[in-house]
Amino acid sequence: MSSPSPYVDEVPEGIPTTLDWVVLSADMATIHAAQRYACIVELWDDAIRAVTRDEGASVLVERSVRLEVASALRISEHAAGRLMGVGRALVKRYPAVWEAMSHADITDTHATIIVDGLDELEIVRDELVSEVLALAEEMPTGPFRRAVRCIVDREREATIAKRHADAVAHRRVRVEPGVDGMAWLTAHLPAVEAHAIHGRLTAIAKTLDDERSLDQKRADVFGDLLIDGETASLPNTVRGIRPTVTVTVPALTLLNGDGPAAHVDGVGPIPLDRARELCGAASGWMRVLTHPETGVVLSVGREHYRPPADLRRLVAWRAARCMAPGCGIPADRCDIDHTVDWHHGGHTDATNLAPLCRGHHTLKHHTDWQVTAKPGGALEWTSPAGRIYLVKPERRIPQFTTDPPPF
Ligand SMILES: [Zn+2]
Repeated sequence: MSSPSPYVDEVPEGIPTTLDWVVLSADMATIHAAQRYACIVELWDDAIRAVTRDEGASVLVERSVRLEVASALRISEHAAGRLMGVGRALVKRYPAVWEAMSHADITDTHATIIVDGLDELEIVRDELVSEVLALAEEMPTGPFRRAVRCIVDREREATIAKRHADAVAHRRVRVEPGVDGMAWLTAHLPAVEAHAIHGRLTAIAKTLDDERSLDQKRADVFGDLLIDGETASLPNTVRGIRPTVTVTVPALTLLNGDGPAAHVDGVGPIPLDRARELCGAASGWMRVLTHPETGVVLSVGREHYRPPADLRRLVAWRAARCMAPGCGIPADRCDIDHTVDWHHGGHTDATNLAPLCRGHHTLKHHTDWQVTAKPGGALEWTSPAGRIYLVKPERRIPQFTTDPPPF
């Protein structure tokens, strides 16, 4: 079994605390979960062996085992089927991942994320398993899920243009019955448009100052816009609101037509033609060229408390999300916090600014958690129990230097 978690850099010595017991029992639960997967697969294999006389029976065997497991564990058959699927993948296809789980080096959730991600690929190489496993051993589940997404997207990049075109052909809108006089209206859209729609609904909803929750406001705005075609019932300030979506395009890709793919925040890689279109025309797109550019305002020192818009956007872009351990709130919905408080001499500087969601911002200022800035925009969080967590930003800001190259 591992020390509590490789993600924890330092564990205070001495008598085990209540938190240590929490970690220990979580590790035991992970080890037992790994054994449960192995036993389920063994049960399944035994059932298959018992009926090899009849090849066509394997689907029935699977259903029978699924009901057996569901009944014994008092869970749904859907949940039992999921345990069987993940278990078989771990034991048969990714034994190294099962091994790591059985030593509590990774959690059940990490293992499931790996199975779901790698199963999307046609070919999974051993190096790829080692790569995701190394990340699983150090990252919390939220950032890990995004990292696996990036790796899977990277592996699938070669065929993205064709796959995207095929997928767009299947766009549709559906209405399905709900309960209590409700229904679901769902649209299957290109991800860029879907995020833009959700972003605009959120932006408009936030301008409405009344008792409704944000979810309710978004749903009402959605209805107003589609039924009446306008937001007449909404204040004037709401009109013309357009969401900002960040698209990152390596400059050389844009110029030469090859190289790393273009990415949209929260969406993943997009075809180059689409990226060209977005970078050329639409307003409301913040263009970030990953080829080094000069002229970016990185600091206003102590001249201003409030960072200029460019610096705010740069800091948010670097982090992509709230910089608290494991938090997934997008940076554009976060406050930009001075890590060393302005009132304690902190500078308005890229090295001292980080996005924090409202909840974690409050926690930082009003609890015993300690936060310090580390190189490259990382934050080190020290818990009240003395555990240390390093949260790294999603991206690095290019470093500009006038020093001669080192040769
Ligand atoms: Zn947060």
